[in-house]
Amino acid sequence: MFHDYYLPQSVPEALEILAKHNGQAAIIAGGTDILLDIHEGKKAFSALVDISRIPKLQSIQEENGFLRLGAAVTHSQANRSTLVQAAAPVLAEACGKVGSLQIRNIATLVGNVVNAQPAADAAVALAALGAKAVIEDGKVCREVLVEDLYADLGKCKVDNTKEIITALLVPTLKKRQGSSFVRLDQRKALALPMLNVAAVVQLDEQGDRFEWARIIMAPVGPGPVRGLDGEALLRGAVVDHDTIVQAAKAAVMHANPRSSALRGSREYRVGVLPVLVKRALEAAVMQAKKV
Ligand SMILES: Cc1cc2nc3c(=O)[nH]c(=O)nc-3n(C[C@H](O)[C@H](O)[C@H](O)COP(=O)(O)OP(=O)(O)OC[C@H]3O[C@@H](n4cnc5c(N)ncnc54)[C@H](O)[C@@H]3O)c2cc1C
Repeated sequence: MFHDYYLPQSVPEALEILAKHNGQAAIIAGGTDILLDIHEGKKAFSALVDISRIPKLQSIQEENGFLRLGAAVTHSQANRSTLVQAAAPVLAEACGKVGSLQIRNIATLVGNVVNAQPAADAAVALAALGAKAVIEDGKVCREVLVEDLYADLGKCKVDNTKEIITALLVPTLKKRQGSSFVRLDQRKALALPMLNVAAVVQLDEQGDRFEWARIIMAPVGPGPVRGLDGEALLRGAVVDHDTIVQAAKAAVMHANPRSSALRGSREYRVGVLPVLVKRALEAAVMQAKKV
């Protein structure tokens, strides 16, 4: 359990409280992960520092080709934001698929990343978009790609007892770029996905060739996994059915899912994943051709 619960009004105040507790206090945002972990005895802290009421962390703003999402932004907020829907539709889509309405109303995107579950929906879309996390410790402020934050299964490189992710910087989609999110889940289940894929593509001016693509798959490794061979195959390639099918097959070479009673066998998921990657690429191409 924990003894103290703090509601700081600013980031410096939150960092000061963390420092005073010397590793015994942790950040809490929506609490949908950390409270379960504490309840189940997986984690223990003497204090929790709630950042959800810090006004500076609650907004979504567009600035210089990026969306800046504060650390207290919830999945519902991102899903309903007209800014996110227009500039990063794959993120709005992924956020709308998380848990239930009650969960989406309090769970934050940053919490989804720091909790480092391989199946996390928002994290997959953020990685596909090349989003960065802004990390502050009171002395230094650094920016790290979301896909580089994963230390191991369930382990994030951000120390939640010393550091705070204050914002996510999400590149906005440009002309001839498209994106898509595909999720395979159990019927009517309020649960993490069996598989999820996000793709972002940049086509040439005519919409005939790929300039580049980013393919992210989960849960098929410790964090969101990039389909690098598939991405390489698409660079400069003609946009057609065969190329997309080949790229989807190549992307899946990087996937290493485990067999799970909840999420299906390794064999089933390896078999179905190329179909999901293909669908994500096709949908992203369709979107890119429209803008
Ligand atoms: C019933 C249920 C269904 C769910 N379904 C899904 C689903 O379908 N898809 C999915 O992806 N997830 C799902 N989740 C998981 C969960 O809701 C997400 O991971 C959530 O986004 C975590 O955000 P939070 O704000 O609640 O984080 P918290 O629980 O408050 O924190 C999680 C971790 O992040 C750290 N942290 C939070 N904010 C910061 C910060 N700014 N800086 C540094 N560290 C920070 C905390 O210290 C903690 O370690 C589900 C959870 C439940 C309970």
